[in-house]
Amino acid sequence: MTLLQLTGVRAAYDGVQALHGMDLAVTEGEMVALLGANGAGKTTTLRAVSGTVSVEGAVLLDGQDVTGWAAHRVARLGVGHVPEGRGTFVDLTVEENLTLGALARAKRLRGQVKEDLAAVHELFPILREFSRRQAGALSGGQQQMLAIARAILGRPRLLLVDEPSLGLAPMVTTEILRSLRVLQAEWQLAVLLAEQNARRALAVVDRAYVLESGRVVASGSAAELRENTAVQDAYLGAE
Ligand code: ATP
Repeated sequence: MTLLQLTGVRAAYDGVQALHGMDLAVTEGEMVALLGANGAGKTTTLRAVSGTVSVEGAVLLDGQDVTGWAAHRVARLGVGHVPEGRGTFVDLTVEENLTLGALARAKRLRGQVKEDLAAVHELFPILREFSRRQAGALSGGQQQMLAIARAILGRPRLLLVDEPSLGLAPMVTTEILRSLRVLQAEWQLAVLLAEQNARRALAVVDRAYVLESGRVVASGSAAELRENTAVQDAYLGAE
């Protein structure tokens, strides 16, 4: 079933158009990447979904029109957002950050926090080990794990993740992308991932959209896009 649908979505910053009519869809439980260079519109697309930029066109969640909704209302429908730059509370401990994440969950899921926290610790053991540490004292990769873990504890059905590989070593990037794949499978989660590193993203996602100047210029399964020569030339060159 379609979980998220964007139709003709346009967005602008101070009159400068950033999205020129985006069409995309994410099915329940699917992992989808938004690929493209700097400034292609990946971040703005995620913000259009989470309600953190104003848009024209239509954003549908589960068939419900949420266009123009405030971010907290969209979040309540089960949309988690891990923004670029991670957005952890650097002065709070790891444990406190995770506790805040759990506050975002629906009432009926309040009883399951302990179990979910245990599952998160199993996926990211370092967060248990460093639970009393200030988030700001963690490495970039660990902060990215914390940001994902915090969002996950809100029990979203759709997780928006913006450029998780930014500033991370290739091995850490691979680990983070794999952990998203595990979450998608084990938590029946749909993931919409903005990622400049097309090669690494296409190694883990089901499908992807390639954006250029605020438009979709190619889309397909990960395998199709890896074989697409235009995509290869533009995005799958040497690392
Ligand atoms: P990046 O990897 O740099 O985040 P992106 O693909 O996510 O790139 P967006 O951040 O969505 O792209 O940017 C799309 C366009 O909107 C770009 O032309 C960018 O310069 C512009 N833009 C983004 N944020 C703002 C802002 N806060 N104010 C003005 N223009 C912006």
